[in-house]
Amino acid sequence: MIDGEKFLERPIRWAMIGGGRGSQIGYIHRSAALRDNNFRLVAGAFDIDPERGRDFGEKCYVAPDRCYTDYKEMFAAEAKREDGIEAVSIATPNFTHYEIAKAALEAGLHVYCEKPMCFFSNEAQELERLAKEKNRIMFLSYGYCGHQMIEQARRMVASGDLGPIRILNMQFAHGAHNVAVEKKSAATAWRVDPKKAGLSYVLGDVGTHMLYLQEAIVPQLKIRRLMCSAQSFVEGRALEDNAMSIMEYESGAIGYIWSSCVNAGSEFGARFRIVGEKASIAWDAEHPNQLQYEVQGSMQGAMQRGAGYLYAEARADDRIGGGHPEGLFEAWSNLYTKFARAINKNEKGEPIDFWYPDVHAGAEGVKWVEKCVESAKNEGAWVTY
Ligand code: NAD
Repeated sequence: MIDGEKFLERPIRWAMIGGGRGSQIGYIHRSAALRDNNFRLVAGAFDIDPERGRDFGEKCYVAPDRCYTDYKEMFAAEAKREDGIEAVSIATPNFTHYEIAKAALEAGLHVYCEKPMCFFSNEAQELERLAKEKNRIMFLSYGYCGHQMIEQARRMVASGDLGPIRILNMQFAHGAHNVAVEKKSAATAWRVDPKKAGLSYVLGDVGTHMLYLQEAIVPQLKIRRLMCSAQSFVEGRALEDNAMSIMEYESGAIGYIWSSCVNAGSEFGARFRIVGEKASIAWDAEHPNQLQYEVQGSMQGAMQRGAGYLYAEARADDRIGGGHPEGLFEAWSNLYTKFARAINKNEKGEPIDFWYPDVHAGAEGVKWVEKCVESAKNEGAWVTY
């Protein structure tokens, strides 16, 4: 159970880049990082507009002289302080992740980076190399994997409760951009602009979340080849707003990820069903406290978050006990606590004996998007992974 008891000698000095006023994802980063007192927000370059960022930072209790114009100024100034920042979260639009993450690692900081980590595999390899060379933790913001029932799913697969895995049927298909909302929303405009979003829109934006859930729940799966069909249904969009990807794995299993923002009527639409030889599990991000467990010829029912029958590793993520709902904020808090634990072990030179979305997971997401785009450009041809 997580009860906020300290495991660090003192909170980690932490900064944010992006995530300023009105941003979609800034508040949950702060809320999750600060929840268990493992981090203290001491600096930031919160906004593309420095003045707005400064004002925002001050209103988040950051000292005025540590609300910076941009990340370069922040890294240089903080490096000169005895009490300078030790870790940073990057919550800016996609096209900035690579250069900021690279600069952060070079500055010797531990990094919590939004997805996609970068656009191209050569950049991902460079970040992997740098994280290793500088011996820093690089953590990817795949927030859904912090839910307790995802840990339970992972343990069920590892324990053989489902039998060998045959089929992974996954989707992250919302309907929020079924018309050209980007004409009125800056936060949507960059997502459909190839210069700012990269090779893809929905594959990188939502599909990579499901890819990482596959990796987290069934870590032994290795993609052998994939095919992808991608479309842009809304007129004028240069990037795909819908994509269907099929993966064949070396084990003989098959997987499917539907990535979409034009699934009209779907509020969120992130869910999966994983089918083994003897049983299946199913989960829906809108109902994260339940994991459906269906044994062929036997029981079918929803396992409940916080219950005593869950695997110990899943129970360890519990914050309030069974019967009470936990949600995305708790899932993200679990991940930031793991980030702090990983930093702590790293600083002490101890091996990290738990899983988390690391720099390699970020690189896998980048590679998957590249391969999907390659297939889609070749009329959905199979692409060797
Ligand atoms: P947004 O457009 O709502 O906000 C972006 C913020 O970054 C704004 O405050 C903007 O002023 C600031 N910014 C932009 N460029 C900057 C720079 N160079 N320096 C400092 N600040 C800068 O975007 P968002 O929806 O919050 O998305 C941000 C990132 O988070 C994206 O990479 C997105 O893919 C990711 N995201 C992840 C999840 C998740 O579940 N992990 C969910 C939503 C968004």
